[in-house]
Amino acid sequence: MQTTAGDGHDEIRDAVRALCREFPDEYHRGVDEARAYPEAFVDALTNAGWMAALIPEEYGGAGLGLAEASVIMEEINRAGGNSGACHGQMYNMTTLVRHGSEEQRRRYLPAIARGELRLQSMGVTEPTTGSDTTRLRTTAERRGDRYVVNGQKVWISRIQHSDLMILLARTTPVDRVAKRSEGLSIFLVDVKQAQANGMTVRPILNMVNHETNELFFDNLEIPAENLIGEEGQGFRYILTGLNAERTLIAAECIGDGYWFVDRIARYAAERHVFGRPIGQNQGVQFPIAEAFVEVEAANLMRFEACRRYDAGLPCGTQANMAKYLAAKASWEAANACLQFHGGFGFACEYDVERKFRETRLYQVAPVSTNLILSYVAEHVLGLPRSY
Ligand SMILES: Cc1cc2nc3c(=O)[nH]c(=O)nc-3n(C[C@H](O)[C@H](O)[C@H](O)COP(=O)(O)OP(=O)(O)OC[C@H]3O[C@@H](n4cnc5c(N)ncnc54)[C@H](O)[C@@H]3O)c2cc1C
Repeated sequence: MQTTAGDGHDEIRDAVRALCREFPDEYHRGVDEARAYPEAFVDALTNAGWMAALIPEEYGGAGLGLAEASVIMEEINRAGGNSGACHGQMYNMTTLVRHGSEEQRRRYLPAIARGELRLQSMGVTEPTTGSDTTRLRTTAERRGDRYVVNGQKVWISRIQHSDLMILLARTTPVDRVAKRSEGLSIFLVDVKQAQANGMTVRPILNMVNHETNELFFDNLEIPAENLIGEEGQGFRYILTGLNAERTLIAAECIGDGYWFVDRIARYAAERHVFGRPIGQNQGVQFPIAEAFVEVEAANLMRFEACRRYDAGLPCGTQANMAKYLAAKASWEAANACLQFHGGFGFACEYDVERKFRETRLYQVAPVSTNLILSYVAEHVLGLPRSY
């Protein structure tokens, strides 16, 4: 399959593809069936330095940009894997690198780069407020040299396989700030220490093999030195991570999209019914071709979002649009792939149903398609805020 993006990342693509070949479909299928975490795969990515892609060289990382990080994520999904098991480390890193103090960077980044610590978790979403993030209710109250955290989070992924989490909590009550986006702060939480001191983790069994959890905070104490940046500015900081997350997930959807198109194009050429390949029928060809066109278009927006992000330019609009386009394209590719595999699409050994479930998530998380459209309507088109 010939794709059009000559993006100049061939070396990274070749190296990640070589690593991914060591983990074929059977590996990912087995992990899915066992509802396990792909430890060996994530370890291999870590040992090869890919999980430290966004850590600057002076702290032991590869010093790459979001464009390169997105290529790594894309290739994992394109090879049949699921970057959802490890992409947290990429987008959380951008928050820590851009907004952490020099002391925090020196304390954590080299150890993360060496693979001794994982920063895979980000705690934002809450059960009662959902997409309405600035209304979140978890509080962090300063008491001397500590913050005391109370509240609840939901859908917090990979915490059982992470040493550190970036947590968003309210530090100034909402009635004492001019705007709801003020008075929120972010903290670096030591997961094991927190579990022994007031944080409870309750796993959520879900449709994909995605390790995700409810968190309960009952007077969890966090050292004040773990505050990232200035108190009250956390929402602005977390947007750095959220824009990176949306762009990376766009790349993952693009990887999925290529995987689906590649699989179904090959299958449709080989599968004979009524004495000819099913792919000879336009009713079969067109949805596959259409999905490919849309994946290719989403790919361009992904690189535009990366370009702006890496240049330090505002990129919220492009990150959102890339995620919207890519999630839609991968979902259409997934539907075509499942449909034209006929009954075989439902057989686990074809991997189509697994990838189908995995890519469906991105219509909802990390931001729903509706909320992206609201963002574009309000912030790009100047329409009245709808919520
Ligand atoms: C597997 C999984 C992993 C996740 N991992 C993390 C994580 O690691 N960290 C984290 O913080 N969060 C995580 N999330 C949470 C995710 O970001 C949220 O599920 C997502 O933002 C949607 O929020 P919600 O589920 O509360 O939906 P709600 O806010 O309740 O919205 C439900 C639906 O209503 C619609 N809707 C809501 N408001 C509007 C509106 N104003 N206009 C139009 N439509 C609207 C949307 O279609 C939306 O899908 C994860 C979720 C899942 C499912």
